[in-house]
Amino acid sequence: MKRRIALIAHDKKKDDMIAFASEFADFLKTCDLLATGTTGKRLTEEVGLTVERKLSGPFGGDLQIGSELVEGRIHAVVFLRDPMTPQPHEPDINALVRACDVHNVACATNISTARLVLSRLQSQKE
Ligand code: PGA
Repeated sequence: MKRRIALIAHDKKKDDMIAFASEFADFLKTCDLLATGTTGKRLTEEVGLTVERKLSGPFGGDLQIGSELVEGRIHAVVFLRDPMTPQPHEPDINALVRACDVHNVACATNISTARLVLSRLQSQKE
């Protein structure tokens, strides 16, 4: 089964997301990827990944990803939140993380957890 993975990074975490996605690029290329707008743009331009781009997070991108997730169409989320900066779309962020918990979908909110989740998915594939 092809994995469908959502990737989201707040502005100060985008460089970390690019480095992380580069590290896992071989695996990510075998997955269906979706991302919020700016994160997706950078993943395409800088890592060469094919990504379905939703709206930017503050304009509803997290909610779009959440709506797919609650319909069972997303297998894991890498959501590099910035814990040090207030976000205008905090309610949307909380809604997406809550949806992951309600539907028992893996949600990695930092690089260490993201590595564990993707390594596990990768090994299940082999
Ligand atoms: P962005 O959205 O990828 O469009 O920057 C991420 C977010 O802020 O939730």
